[in-house]
Amino acid sequence: MKTQSKKYYYNMQLETAERIKGLPVKPSLLMHTCCAVCACYPIVWLTQYFDLTLYYYNDNIYPEDEYEKRYAELERYVRIFNQENNRNVKLIKCEYHNTEYTEKLVPYRDAPEGGERCHLCYKLRLKKGMEYARQHGYDYFTTVMTVSRQKDSVLLNQIGEQLDNAETRYFFSDFKKDGGLEKGQQLVKKYGIYSQNYCGCVFSYREMLERVRKEYKEKEE
Ligand code: SF4
Repeated sequence: MKTQSKKYYYNMQLETAERIKGLPVKPSLLMHTCCAVCACYPIVWLTQYFDLTLYYYNDNIYPEDEYEKRYAELERYVRIFNQENNRNVKLIKCEYHNTEYTEKLVPYRDAPEGGERCHLCYKLRLKKGMEYARQHGYDYFTTVMTVSRQKDSVLLNQIGEQLDNAETRYFFSDFKKDGGLEKGQQLVKKYGIYSQNYCGCVFSYREMLERVRKEYKEKEE
């Protein structure tokens, strides 16, 4: 597989949108969604072209309270968005199975954020999302995660390319391009969206606690 740039995937995002915008009916798109912070701007952009459904599949998130909190915030934002824009974005919540999921990540527990552990984590979530999209006849599938500066958007698109199939096409994207990141930050501020301070898994949770402890200690000294 040829390695492409973020710009290449952003251009593909625009090209696909251009191709479908004249269709009499908006194609359906299932978007794997991790939280409202990441989703707020891509939702605005995508609903111009797609009949959008969000797929909250995030067994990585630890602990369960946090999983529920991120979901509740996403649900709140979608409700406001639909009301204010007369849209019908739908939201699917998956069952929570963190223990089994974490066991799969254990071999890479010491990998730094962005390394092998995250690569597997991206693959697991995208694979499950694409399976659901295909089984339920969605025209397209994608992930919101290309909006994040902390995530490797090229790798996410490469995983998407491997999952792409004739029934459900993978929608290539780089949602942070062309001011997407900044527009998202403005929406987070405007709607007071809860912003978590760690990515999700128990390993990133422990790293966050360590970071907070260290910062506290430095302040005390
Ligand atoms: S840091 Fe985030 S992307 Fe990486 S393994 Fe943990 S939850 Fe998954």
